[in-house]
Amino acid sequence: MPAQTKKAAIDDTLAIQAKGRARPNAAPLSMAQKSAQKLAKLGLHTDMDLALHLPLRYEDETSIMSIQQASLRGTQVVQVEGVISVSDIQYRPRRQLVVTMQDDSGQLVLRFLNFYGNQAKQLAEGIRIRVRGELRHGFFGAEMVHPTYKVVLEGAPLPSALTPVYPAGEGLSQAYLRKAITSALSRLDWRDTLPPELLTELKLSGFEDAVRLLHNPPTDVDEYALTERSHPAWIRMKFDELLAQQLSLKRAQAARRARTACALPNVGSFSQAFLQQLPFQLTAAQQRVLEEIRCDLRAAFPMQRLLQGDVGSGKTVVAALAAAQAIDSGFQAVLMAPTEILADQHFRKIAAWMEPLGVEVAWLTGSLKKKEKAAANARIESGAARLVIGTHALIQDSVQFHKLGLVIVDEQHRFGVGQRLALRNKGFDSNEPGVSAQVATVPHQLMMSATPIPRTLAMTYFADLEVSVIDQLPPGRTPIVTRTIDQNRREEVIARVHAAAQEGRQIYWVCPLIEESEALQLQTATDTCLMLTEALPELRIGLVHGRLKPAEKQTVMDAFTAGEIHVLVATTVIEVGVDVPNASLMVIEHAERFGLSQLHQLRGRVGRGAAASACILLYQSPLGGTAKQRLMTMRETADGFEIARRDLEIRGPGEFLGARQSGQALLRFADLETDQWLVEKARNLAQTLLQQESVVVDQHLQRWLGGKEEFLKV
Ligand code: ADP
Ligand code: MG
Repeated sequence: MPAQTKKAAIDDTLAIQAKGRARPNAAPLSMAQKSAQKLAKLGLHTDMDLALHLPLRYEDETSIMSIQQASLRGTQVVQVEGVISVSDIQYRPRRQLVVTMQDDSGQLVLRFLNFYGNQAKQLAEGIRIRVRGELRHGFFGAEMVHPTYKVVLEGAPLPSALTPVYPAGEGLSQAYLRKAITSALSRLDWRDTLPPELLTELKLSGFEDAVRLLHNPPTDVDEYALTERSHPAWIRMKFDELLAQQLSLKRAQAARRARTACALPNVGSFSQAFLQQLPFQLTAAQQRVLEEIRCDLRAAFPMQRLLQGDVGSGKTVVAALAAAQAIDSGFQAVLMAPTEILADQHFRKIAAWMEPLGVEVAWLTGSLKKKEKAAANARIESGAARLVIGTHALIQDSVQFHKLGLVIVDEQHRFGVGQRLALRNKGFDSNEPGVSAQVATVPHQLMMSATPIPRTLAMTYFADLEVSVIDQLPPGRTPIVTRTIDQNRREEVIARVHAAAQEGRQIYWVCPLIEESEALQLQTATDTCLMLTEALPELRIGLVHGRLKPAEKQTVMDAFTAGEIHVLVATTVIEVGVDVPNASLMVIEHAERFGLSQLHQLRGRVGRGAAASACILLYQSPLGGTAKQRLMTMRETADGFEIARRDLEIRGPGEFLGARQSGQALLRFADLETDQWLVEKARNLAQTLLQQESVVVDQHLQRWLGGKEEFLKV
């Protein structure tokens, strides 16, 4: 994740964490307090939190197999019991404790490569032990490496329930968690939030039965169903969780609908003319999402829609058409982008579409001179500027809109919640004199993102957000061939760059991300530029990086767009949105340092024209495990959603969203894909409950979301 994105994401997270986590500086912590703190790290604050901290899996310690039986099983965890016949510390090939145990059926060797002195003493000849582990057939017959074991007396009773294994944080033992949970269960308020007739109707277990069973499953339980989480007890948990999600979603929606926005009902002559003069036809997917947006904009409550589309899928024109509807309806629209380059590109493109039709588009960024800024502000305030495009300079107090009806945020994940809200609050305030309606209004909001958030996550984290997806690229794109090459073969890559330039193509050469130091990153970029200039004397090489003044940046980008530069050496400033169709080769140095979504974004800069495009990922070996996975994913797929899905797999939801506490995902048990049928049921029930049973709703939300609910609304 680029530093900026990380920051924006962390801003969001901080907002989420602000509540209830502060702890006054106090005296050194006692053991109990330390443990409580570790529990808190897992999000476990209350007895109910503990009760809902359900096992990841179970271990079956309820039965014992004979060693002979066990050795007939494949590699599978088994439990055996016997008496130690030999206990020996060996030194070759390395120091290890080797214990031989016997039962009536045979013998088994146990190896401990790391062991304590008293462990060696404890595992003495004649001692009876109960051992769990994977049995393998080693050189000297049946053996187990590092099994878990317990010293027992003959005839010691076996547990009567499966042993739960809980998700645990660092320094928290299973034994401690088990104890904490058992004691929480003894104190719990077991009231069922669902009425009994409903449980019968939906064939669901009672809450208490379900929770108790999952923590202490009886020996005769259907273990498979338990592991697969298809057991009725699991179904009840998933249902409850989904119900909580649906309830909070619907409540947030209702709250939004209760707010007022100015309806933007007109798709009029400007919109028509705009569409007609576009040099292309909208794709079916663009058409569909445009309809969704148009429909929202007609309503008198604020739209809150996320427009997702892979890099290059054509979100900008859809945003422009949304703005056209605001303009046709007599309102202003604003489009905010995270970088000057991107804002500038939007401005040029959209102004070129709109201004010939007599619609004024204003441009506002931090780099404008004072005078220009004042002039732009005046046009915005008077309403002469119908659409305003810019960077976060737009949220400054000096910027006043005449009649703002629609806010569009591009690359929304690059902004913090606060920034997005600040822009929204510039909405048309109908309390102003001369306006008849006496209600404060909120503008409609359209957020765009090319970092596709998997639908499951979007639904979980952004409770009150409609999602539109452009799932189709404009025609005529050629797929990008991606290759990974060790950087000691750089010469070959330079030759390839040369050949591409000879064919009239343009090339991006992206310099490595150096998170610790912008200066170092700049230096590397400069070095690379010099290196390429030397190696390719007949080519024109440009350099663009974050330290350039905006005007200088613009000059370089213009020259590249105009084809005057063959190779553009760039830091990650080109990551978002830059659109130069003739650029068809991209080289990314130290690709192993980039995150998946960033690589995908970068790669999306090529493949925009008709020419076959290629992306070369230079890496430095040896590659770490996740770096290898990332590069492989890049080679295997170009589908942004698939990439996002794998990213999620590699990193987990917490980190994926930049949240620091992973494992805080609000859907812990249900899976929106496989449990779709439950989602439907939960959705229907939520509808009914909200109409009738507000006490039940409150209880249920409290139980499942605690205080977290309110954070879902932004
Ligand atoms: P992104 O979704 O990544 O923001 P853009 O909006 O920048 O993508 O669009 C990428 C390119 O595709 C632009 O040059 C745009 O003009 C072009 N484009 C958008 N829609 C279409 C279409 N329906 N047919 C052809 N080209 C299109
Ligand atoms: Mg874009």
